[in-house]
Amino acid sequence: MHYTILDCYTDEASGLGVPPYLGTYPRYIYGKLKQEGHDVTYITIDDLRLWKVYHKKKKETPEHEKTNILIYNTTKNDAEEVLQTTDVLIVVLGVHVPGKYLTALPGTLREVTAHIRDLPMKKILTGPAVFGTQLEGGKVSETFKEGIFDEVIDYSASFEELNEYALIGAEILDQIPDKRVIEIETGRGCKVGKCSFCTEPIKSKFINRKMEDVVKEVQSFYNHGARFFRLGKQADFYASDRPIELLKQIRKNCPKIEVLQIDNVNPNSVIAPGGEEITKAIVEYCTAGNIAAFGVESFDPEVVRANLLNTAPLMAMKAICIINKYGAERGGNGMPKFLPGINIIFGLLNESKETHQKNMGSLQQIMTGGLMLRRINIRQVAVLPNTFLEKHGGQKYFHKNKKYYWKWRNEIRQKIDNPMLERILPKGTILSEVWTEMYDGKTTFCRQMGTYPLVIGIKGRIPLKQKIKVRVMGYMLRSIVGETVE
Ligand code: SF4
Repeated sequence: MHYTILDCYTDEASGLGVPPYLGTYPRYIYGKLKQEGHDVTYITIDDLRLWKVYHKKKKETPEHEKTNILIYNTTKNDAEEVLQTTDVLIVVLGVHVPGKYLTALPGTLREVTAHIRDLPMKKILTGPAVFGTQLEGGKVSETFKEGIFDEVIDYSASFEELNEYALIGAEILDQIPDKRVIEIETGRGCKVGKCSFCTEPIKSKFINRKMEDVVKEVQSFYNHGARFFRLGKQADFYASDRPIELLKQIRKNCPKIEVLQIDNVNPNSVIAPGGEEITKAIVEYCTAGNIAAFGVESFDPEVVRANLLNTAPLMAMKAICIINKYGAERGGNGMPKFLPGINIIFGLLNESKETHQKNMGSLQQIMTGGLMLRRINIRQVAVLPNTFLEKHGGQKYFHKNKKYYWKWRNEIRQKIDNPMLERILPKGTILSEVWTEMYDGKTTFCRQMGTYPLVIGIKGRIPLKQKIKVRVMGYMLRSIVGETVE
């Protein structure tokens, strides 16, 4: 049987699969089907757009235009040719935490439906969309009823089952011409949390993947040429199976690894006994520019209480101090080695004007304490099916307060983000391992590979997909102005 995996990209609180990241969904499905003896082809929504919308023509970006990110992440395959011989099309789709992506745009259900409606093969929908997708308002079952998809399948497998085929998934890299950051899963579910908006506890009970199996998967991708890794698919890296040994083993077995970083961290684990040891190991074995992504969500105790949030404001502050203590030092690529990042969510239950004041108060305290936050993600809450939030008010507070959000966000950006960026990267800092990625008019935008990398704008057009060195010259909102260094 010929299966084709169509990757429309995925973004969840605990896992990223938007290029340059390669998510777990297509890799696991690829490995499973291969192991069953099928032919498997991997294409992306970009391949489909290139065929259906752009008639297979990729043109140079004219001087006054932007690089077309709708067709940036094509594979080595021709979508039309592949789909002519495909028996079953598996569509991987679902964005739970929509972000801004520099060089990719995830496909939505609506978009992909329009492109595949007239194709004759069996069609299966999978990915986070199975649990609802925010861009489509959790309308998976409606779409299914309309008959576009023959089945909606959750391909989740236990870690034992995965052991049989996750390593085969590394072969998928043979079909992808560009570099990818491989998002590695270390655990599922959440050990402590019941946060009102989160689907993680609904999707899975807390379960860790065995350290040895994580190392084997990293090695398998490394042997297929991957050099960029994020141990990012979990609710709390500190709660992984033997995290210090895990990092040591990866370093030992993959000596030429260029990026090794983590993602989600529960601030309570950082301040718990043993947390400082894990922090030190992360600083030692991971690559610089690393971030502990803390899901603080709110510094207002009333919001924390009403939404069953995991971290009390005081605990968050303590954890921010500890990560700074060990990780603030600058690493070889010019970035501080390991810093905290926080999320703030607008629209949670019991949010009021005071909530913003409390958020600002804590952020000011971080500034005056001389601490660093590598990033502050601010997003409006997504009400996902079957969550506590959906059952206890849904969008009530979002609708009540949304008139303030622009002002609140702007205040954080102006008063905190801007001076923070200057603290993290003073003018004159040299950043290495920077990749040129896209043009916007006469500016080239670049980033380091890794977790939430800063975007750097450089005047002039530099050939794309090259590794360069950059001197920090100035700042734009949440990004850097740089110049190339020989
Ligand atoms: S701590 Fe809260 S937000 Fe984080 S995974 Fe657990 S339930 Fe979800």
